[in-house]
Amino acid sequence: MSKPCLLAIDQGTTGSRAFLYDRQGRVLARGYQEIRQHFPRPGWVEHDPEELWGTTLQVIRRALARGRIDPSRIYAIGITNQRETTLLWDRKSGRPFHRAIVWQDRRTSDLCKAFKADEPQVRRVTGLVLDPYFSGTKIAWLLRHLPSVASAARSGRAAFGTVDSWLLWRLTGGKAHATDVTNASRTLLLDLKSGRWSEAMLKMFRVPGCILPEVHPSSHRFGKTAAVGPLPAGIPITGIAGDQQAALFGQGCTEPGEAKNTYGTGCFLLMQTGKRLIRSRHGLLTTAACDSKGQPSFALEGSVFIAGAAIQWLRDELGLLKKAVESERIALSVPDTGGAYLVPAFVGLGAPYWNPEARGLICGLTRGTRRAHLVRAALESIAYQSQELLSAMERDSGIRLHALRVDGGAVKNNFLLQFQADLAGVPVVRPRIIETTALGAAQLAGLGIGFWSTQDLARMRAVDRIFRPRWTGSRRGEALAGWKAAVRRAL
Ligand code: ADP
Repeated sequence: MSKPCLLAIDQGTTGSRAFLYDRQGRVLARGYQEIRQHFPRPGWVEHDPEELWGTTLQVIRRALARGRIDPSRIYAIGITNQRETTLLWDRKSGRPFHRAIVWQDRRTSDLCKAFKADEPQVRRVTGLVLDPYFSGTKIAWLLRHLPSVASAARSGRAAFGTVDSWLLWRLTGGKAHATDVTNASRTLLLDLKSGRWSEAMLKMFRVPGCILPEVHPSSHRFGKTAAVGPLPAGIPITGIAGDQQAALFGQGCTEPGEAKNTYGTGCFLLMQTGKRLIRSRHGLLTTAACDSKGQPSFALEGSVFIAGAAIQWLRDELGLLKKAVESERIALSVPDTGGAYLVPAFVGLGAPYWNPEARGLICGLTRGTRRAHLVRAALESIAYQSQELLSAMERDSGIRLHALRVDGGAVKNNFLLQFQADLAGVPVVRPRIIETTALGAAQLAGLGIGFWSTQDLARMRAVDRIFRPRWTGSRRGEALAGWKAAVRRAL
């Protein structure tokens, strides 16, 4: 047999990706296909489940063709996915009952308000906040609004799953109805501590337990493929994790205090807390993650709503930039922002403020303020917002951060990463492979079937560049105080 390889499927919000890796963890070939976004009403966002599945097969086919790889070489499969997105399908016909309700969908805002009194219990059991973002109220909405689905659910014919479960079910020809603990921890239905479905939450949201998938660790033998699309029967699926947790693992953050930040449209920050389940006092989420063996651990999570999107705003709405990449050169053309701050609270502020009514502002302007100062202030705002989450994580956990690993589209910006290092007072580490989500899924799968050892995984994590902090503590304190004063005005 020619050399075996590992397949990672990354089904994301904007598209589906497939990656084939060799034993050294190098990408042999990849495929990508965008998916259609459906907006049936303001605030609603849906995906077509058949398209999620169809594009997944398509990108696998594409990667195999590009790499001229025979599918019989695929040793195992790992899956990572957009989290929280909710599907219900018919076990008999195999057809979805409804389009997938995407994590961004806000249709269950009122439902969340109706449960407001129960929020402390929800927080205690699930580690999450009551927000339309998570799957639980989306399932409740489907069961309330589609009577035929409700009766199919009661009779055990309906199956619920996040995107990973849906793909697993289809890949195994309907044999495996399962998920991993990281995806399950985003549903509002999991008892985070025990890693099992919570009877109390099922009762609260009136979800029949018989529709739920089995929950397993992220590295686990979930099932084997049926002969589907380009794939032959019998390939084991041995790794599953939600996208952020897969990235945390792909970045090698498996020891308490290790954290990663993904800089994209928004930022997603996760800090590994190991066996310690830490409840946040600063509005962060507590979530399931993976330890070095792909077994369940815990993490603290926070997100910045507007990060790279602030650069898009400068480019598209203010016309201050032609391309995002110019922002680095322009920011570096001035020594500082001249006292200007941009607080991009365009959609309110998340942790640690949680103020949906906050709005964006630019302050500290003088006659001398130029385009470069504003561009610099926008980039700095990404780092300031991330820093506030990092400090909240440190305060909640009592763990001092050692280093911050970074990925996402905006980490090409060296100015941003140097400023982040200066502000955080810890080294910021950019890996050579920045597609850490797919890599994490592949690694979980490879570990699950003995294709790779934990030492092999460590060898794959090559560093591209380390940004070392240069500021004194007092300079950091001053910079942050200036930012906080600006935020107070936005609240
Ligand atoms: P997502 O996965 O959220 O769609 P990406 O990881 O592809 O986002 O990153 C794209 C975001 O990063 C955009 O918001 C863009 O403005 C920002 N971005 C891309 N390149 C740079 C850069 N060189 N400097 C600053 N921001 C950038």
